[in-house]
Amino acid sequence: MKPGIIAATVGIIAGAAIILFTKAKKGLSMSDDGSSDDKNGGSDGSIGLGINKKDLPLPDCSTKFTATKKGSSRQDSKIRLIVIHSTEGGTAAGAAGWFANDASGGSAHIVVDDKECYRTLPDSLIPWGAKGGRANEDGLHIEFTGYAKWTRDEWMNHLAEIKKGAAVISNWCKKYNIPIEFLDSEEIAKLGNNAHGITTHHELTKAFKIAGGHTDPGKGFPMDVLFDEMGADYKPNPYV
Ligand SMILES: [Zn+2]
Repeated sequence: MKPGIIAATVGIIAGAAIILFTKAKKGLSMSDDGSSDDKNGGSDGSIGLGINKKDLPLPDCSTKFTATKKGSSRQDSKIRLIVIHSTEGGTAAGAAGWFANDASGGSAHIVVDDKECYRTLPDSLIPWGAKGGRANEDGLHIEFTGYAKWTRDEWMNHLAEIKKGAAVISNWCKKYNIPIEFLDSEEIAKLGNNAHGITTHHELTKAFKIAGGHTDPGKGFPMDVLFDEMGADYKPNPYV
């Protein structure tokens, strides 16, 4: 080969190696396959649903802990709900570590706090997140570190984790064609398995009348701020 051709060939190989390395690095973040976290967005046609008004970079989520409580795998096409929880504990590492304990009674896919993100289950596995309908079978569950009893001001002291969660949720919405819309308990009860959107553990408790059910993430959780971060409007829920 002529020197010019050799140089060009080396350049192409180096470029391919960089692309592969970049993809491998992305594989360590929350995306399961690294294919749909295209920062430019829209190439999959999801813009047509009026979602992904902002492209938020995904946080790097540690896979140090794997939840012990999990169900079978599912198809991506089944995923239609995102369920928001609060950990009722002080750190994401503490909650993620608890999910990895055999004694734990539940699980979620992602746990965030101000500083860290943990992925404790792949999206493809059914979690033990919330009772009520098919909230586990068809849902992605995210835990925000904090307490259901917290006031809005207390949550607003943790804006970093709200932003981190917004990035996770908006990317889920994009990947699974879920609208960035809040579903309250009445809508969930009415729409049943046709409900597509974002809700909370508390709304599921009310929708399915779960006795003694969980009420997280609580009335003080700044849902409007979370939606604003995603470039979407939060429709206040009159039933809280
Ligand atoms: Zn919960």
